[in-house]
Amino acid sequence: MQVQKETEVQSSGMPTAVQLAAINAQAKAELTGEQVYVFSLRLCDDQVDRDHERFDTAALPQLAKLFIGKTGIVDHKWSSDAQVARIFAAEVVKEENVSFIKAWAYIRRGGRADEVIADIEAGIKKEVSVGCAMGFAMCSICGGEYGNCGHQKGEYYDGQLCCAVLKEPMDAYEFSFVAVPAQRNAGVLKGFGNQRCLKELAEEFGAQAEYRQLCKMSQLGLQYRKELENGVVRLCLALDLGAEKDVLQNVVEKAAAEDLMKLKGALEEKFNQQMPVVTQLGGCGGWDEEIESGFLI
Ligand SMILES: [Zn+2]
Repeated sequence: MQVQKETEVQSSGMPTAVQLAAINAQAKAELTGEQVYVFSLRLCDDQVDRDHERFDTAALPQLAKLFIGKTGIVDHKWSSDAQVARIFAAEVVKEENVSFIKAWAYIRRGGRADEVIADIEAGIKKEVSVGCAMGFAMCSICGGEYGNCGHQKGEYYDGQLCCAVLKEPMDAYEFSFVAVPAQRNAGVLKGFGNQRCLKELAEEFGAQAEYRQLCKMSQLGLQYRKELENGVVRLCLALDLGAEKDVLQNVVEKAAAEDLMKLKGALEEKFNQQMPVVTQLGGCGGWDEEIESGFLI
């Protein structure tokens, strides 16, 4: 699942000697302390956020490593390397009961980068959006996979608040500065894979009518599919192909709709060829009882 969180620039300035060595381990060309501007970021922590999610404390060290070397867009008009910041160090810091990833990033000074640096200094470019991919979301109530256990984030169960604990760091993505304060309450951009349902998205973007229309159409589609399956099973039974009804049902459930349509066409043709014979033999008693009412072919 993709996770996107907001974070903050904390401190900034000239790099230390140790930092400069770390920067040069990432940079293409050898840089001097005067050429770079360093700032630190507080990335993910292990506290429950407003989405009722938190990063697993034990997952933070691995996640910190994944952020090293990741770049950030600091200027939407970016046209050269100067507008790109790069994380050169990240570690887990524990303050009281909170563990968080502290990352350090650098920007090459000069040109438009200086404007970006001035914005960071002035606090204008203060908020940063970071993204990562986590392999597992655990329900804090039952320890099962969140989304499959029935518990809901933000709900209380026996006085305990349910949250999703994000585990198994898989990847970290580029970060970007977000406009302040425009997106303050606009919601953090979070692609949450299968945990973010279409209904929620429709509500968020005012597409409820379209969503309802789609639901209706999909219901009709499902109904058609079911009728198609039933039709094929009935024809197979009517033609006495030798397979049990249960077996036939299992087969048609797994078949693609296109194949079912073709199969139904072929079976119908065969059925029509055999029908006169069946009639001559005195009716269709052998398969009549298998036909459910309302689905007569
Ligand atoms: Zn649960």
